[in-house]
Amino acid sequence: MGEPGSHCEILIVGGGLLGCATAWHLAKLGLKVLLIERGHLNAGASGQNAGSLHFQIERRFLEQGEKSAAEGARIVTLNRLAIAEWREIEDLLGRPLDIAMHGGLMVAETEAEMDLLAFKVARENELGLATQVLTGSEVRDRAPSLSPALAGAAWLAEEGHANPRILVDAFAQEARGLGAVIRTGTALTALSMARDGSYRAMLSGPDGEVRVDTPRVLLAAGHWVPRLAGLLGLNVPLYPAPLMMSVTDRAQPMLPYLIQHVGRRLSMKQTEDGNLLIGGGWPSRLARRADGTPDLDSPSSVEPANLRANLEVAARVMPALAQRALLRTWTGMTCISADQLPIVGEIAAAPGLFVAAGGSLFTLGPVLARLLSRQIAQGTVPEELKMFTPHRFAHLDAFAVLP
Ligand SMILES: Cc1cc2nc3c(=O)[nH]c(=O)nc-3n(C[C@H](O)[C@H](O)[C@H](O)COP(=O)(O)OP(=O)(O)OC[C@H]3O[C@@H](n4cnc5c(N)ncnc54)[C@H](O)[C@@H]3O)c2cc1C
Repeated sequence: MGEPGSHCEILIVGGGLLGCATAWHLAKLGLKVLLIERGHLNAGASGQNAGSLHFQIERRFLEQGEKSAAEGARIVTLNRLAIAEWREIEDLLGRPLDIAMHGGLMVAETEAEMDLLAFKVARENELGLATQVLTGSEVRDRAPSLSPALAGAAWLAEEGHANPRILVDAFAQEARGLGAVIRTGTALTALSMARDGSYRAMLSGPDGEVRVDTPRVLLAAGHWVPRLAGLLGLNVPLYPAPLMMSVTDRAQPMLPYLIQHVGRRLSMKQTEDGNLLIGGGWPSRLARRADGTPDLDSPSSVEPANLRANLEVAARVMPALAQRALLRTWTGMTCISADQLPIVGEIAAAPGLFVAAGGSLFTLGPVLARLLSRQIAQGTVPEELKMFTPHRFAHLDAFAVLP
């Protein structure tokens, strides 16, 4: 890791998708990068997630009414860039990443849900995303394994899925190849700003306690970002989202598409090996400390009622699922921001301190890492990142005291 007081041009905290992808881009841009991960790489949400590449406006924006849906629609511009990013990523990283982009259906079961889909598709089309509404019979022609009772769906040709178990390692290996130093088992334990505006970080790892001085820090630590920003007395409004995922035994190929539901929490896909992955944002139960406060360092636990509801809606949408055996259900923790959009960029009160977290950052991680690394290296905010700036929450740091 280096000697006490050692120096790097950027310290990246967190070895998930955001941290490792940004490390790779910054190393390519010639920066001396030190990335630390307190566990092993991909230990957080990046290795626990559903692997959905969903570019339609997510249901979570639609369920909060029209204002939220209109806000959520603004993310479509980034989603379009993300499509291009995912199309290129295997070539860029020079290896297969189990990416399948054969299309996605956001299904509807009722006429009210069809109205919501029509509203959503109209917003998406205005913003250049080529979603289209399909009738129930058109859905059946395209995906015969889905229920004949579906009222219809929104179709997007570019949606799909990728394997969350291999992507982060690919970024990390390429970053190391370009000189980035990556230390696992190494946690950020203290952070302060010196009078000259640079940062002093205390790291705890296999070599004991080490101090690192750096002009820039990126907090890419998922739901731990608020805690780490708190080391400087700063506030990043991200909230834990404990989720669940399930996987069935292997089946014959029956589902080439990503399935989501506009009115219910559901994501479903079939992997290359034939397993069906089922999720969609159903909460697991947060671990609690003895005093009742959330314990964000311990895994959340499966919530049986939510698991049942998740499987019921999945089997309703694809009846053949009822014949499959459930192999495993696991939990994972991600986070959402106060306005549901990712928080990516420089903290207004702390020049040189960057954050990247919140939202569906498997789908958006690669493109956000590319844009953020441009900002970090060149000092200007790319147009496409402006709506995600932490500056929109600058009022929360109005009472912070920094040197
Ligand atoms: C069950 C589930 C399903 C999901 N499904 C999807 C999906 O289908 N599509 C989608 O787009 N998104 C999905 N997401 C969200 C997505 O996984 C996350 O948005 C994304 O992985 C976040 O990546 P990250 O690199 O920001 O954070 P993480 O992957 O959480 O990485 C943060 C890392 O920081 C490390 N860290 C924390 N504190 C410290 C410290 N003090 N020092 C050093 N290291 C530290 C952690 O150990 C961790 O490895 C899902 C999430 C979950 C949990």
